[in-house]
Amino acid sequence: MTEIRSTVILGSGCAGLTAAIYSARAGLNPLILEGHEPGGQLSMTTLVENFPGWPEGIQGPELIDNMKKQAARFGATFQQADMASVDLKENPFRLQTSAGEIVTRTLIVASGASARWLGLKSEQALIGHGVSSCATCDGFFFRGKEIAVVGGGDSAMEEAHFLTRFADKVTILHRRDAFRASKIMLERAATHTKIAMRTNTVIEEVLGEEDKEVKGLRLRDVKTGEESILPISGLFLGIGHEPNTKMFAGKIDLDEDGYIRTTGNVLVTKDGVVVPGIYACGDVQDRRYRQAITAAGSGCMAALEAEKFLEEQGH
Ligand SMILES: Cc1cc2nc3c(=O)[nH]c(=O)nc-3n(C[C@H](O)[C@H](O)[C@H](O)COP(=O)(O)OP(=O)(O)OC[C@H]3O[C@@H](n4cnc5c(N)ncnc54)[C@H](O)[C@@H]3O)c2cc1C
Repeated sequence: MTEIRSTVILGSGCAGLTAAIYSARAGLNPLILEGHEPGGQLSMTTLVENFPGWPEGIQGPELIDNMKKQAARFGATFQQADMASVDLKENPFRLQTSAGEIVTRTLIVASGASARWLGLKSEQALIGHGVSSCATCDGFFFRGKEIAVVGGGDSAMEEAHFLTRFADKVTILHRRDAFRASKIMLERAATHTKIAMRTNTVIEEVLGEEDKEVKGLRLRDVKTGEESILPISGLFLGIGHEPNTKMFAGKIDLDEDGYIRTTGNVLVTKDGVVVPGIYACGDVQDRRYRQAITAAGSGCMAALEAEKFLEEQGH
């Protein structure tokens, strides 16, 4: 007979690991499916300066490792597997994973939202060393520096505007000549004394030694083919995020961009009606804040809701 688990947690970022700490301490022996990116987004970054409790800051991978150890201490178990699909029609739910079928009474979805990257090798080599997808997180490191933001939508404009608090100059790079951003956001950016804009421009290479620091960008004008060098210390991606929710399409309510719609903070719905036993936390349901601490906070809420549900069901 297949074992029925009390709680399975999808994702091992700070939302999933916080849910793991709470549900493990509640004696639910949670199983965490780590997914393709064990440790989540924080494992890609270097210094985290805004997570409470670390006055000098802490390296992202170390923070994640601490959370993982904390969860394991109370009996959480980890599996390096991805969930491919799920049947939520009946409880217990059946999950199809790369490690086989798993049956569980509660499912905590903490599968995050991945930032869209340009896909350049040089960009990937410098993530956390000058290349970032999070202005709120990393803007502070660029005080008095010159940086660039890539993108042409509202999020790129907002990010550029926010970064002027720290940087001396922010250049917005956009591959087309027309922007997708709303008129008001565009105007705000275009009239800012610290913001410059370059259209019809693509990034060919992020310059800098791997794992050291960004020195500049090699750019190409898509109309003339002309190449140029832009000396900058930081590159911020403002081309959006993709929530990891493909496996839930049609099964629960997602918004127009694929983020999980929640009610009561972490409760998941289908056609507006709460589906008991499934909860969503962290960036997969939060397009607004996208911070480690907010992800951790909602992970705690999801675990407490799962615990309450199991208790009400007499398990
Ligand atoms: C470069 C960078 C720097 C940052 N710096 C800071 C900072 O300084 N301070 C701060 O507060 N925030 C920072 N953030 C934001 C912060 O990392 C995120 O808000 C936080 O990681 C969200 O946590 P999460 O658990 O919701 O999702 P994630 O961290 O994205 O984790 C998602 C998890 O889900 C797993 N997963 C996905 N799909 C599946 C599947 N099908 N099956 C199983 N598992 C799956 C992945 O493997 C991963 O483990 C930064 C982000 C980036 C990218």
